[in-house]
Amino acid sequence: MAPPRLYKTEAIVLRQRKLGEADRILTLHTPAYGKLDAKAKGVRKTTSRMAGHLQPLNRCMVQLARGRTMEVVAGCETLESFQRLREELERLSRALYAAELADRFLPERVESETTYRLLLETLRRLQGDTDLDLVLRYYEMRLLELSGFRPELERCLGCDQPLQPQPNFFSPAGGGTYCPPCGAGAAGSRRLSVNGLKVLRLLQRASYKEVGRLNMAPALAQEVERHLRSYIVYMLEREVNAAAFVERLRREQQPLEAMS
Ligand SMILES: [Zn+2]
Repeated sequence: MAPPRLYKTEAIVLRQRKLGEADRILTLHTPAYGKLDAKAKGVRKTTSRMAGHLQPLNRCMVQLARGRTMEVVAGCETLESFQRLREELERLSRALYAAELADRFLPERVESETTYRLLLETLRRLQGDTDLDLVLRYYEMRLLELSGFRPELERCLGCDQPLQPQPNFFSPAGGGTYCPPCGAGAAGSRRLSVNGLKVLRLLQRASYKEVGRLNMAPALAQEVERHLRSYIVYMLEREVNAAAFVERLRREQQPLEAMS
């Protein structure tokens, strides 16, 4: 549903980029209108009263005016500034990664209350919790789920049999798990340990409260991170390639349509 000409919404600033001499384009995640770009005029001038409210990762209440090409920020007010995230580099870098991942995975202007909640909770956890990597693993798995990229973790994608409690395989290109005989030949597959699979399943099924009790040995934490990361990279690349491919198909179709 298109928003009214002038409207107010809560938003998290995912990123910003410079525009012209004094303006910025902000990418915002809103609950009701999804991800959208908005122009903030004059915010790079030292006199701007809005600049401080529109920092990346800020949660704010913004007033937006629908413009011809994109929204224009008419007013804003900070609701939550996540000060501690900004003071500790290891928290900040992870929070920026979480925001960037949301930016990459979310389509523009599609209502997404669930991913908004997830990102907000993740920023709060990154601000207060101790196991920051576990916060990110949970976020990655939930974001994949909510944006339609859920990996298969129960059955073998080759022979469709339930996985046995033994070392199996994980293949980003295949979309999830493979049993040993099938996994050996699956494209880009890597060994997945018994505990690695248990943790991935827990991330997929359990609440954050349950996941938060996990205390993984460094090798296991690294294995889980490697599998999730390679899956995310694969999905992002595939989507980008698909977009270019669809665009090319569209162009190639035009002469045919003109002939018929
Ligand atoms: Zn199999």
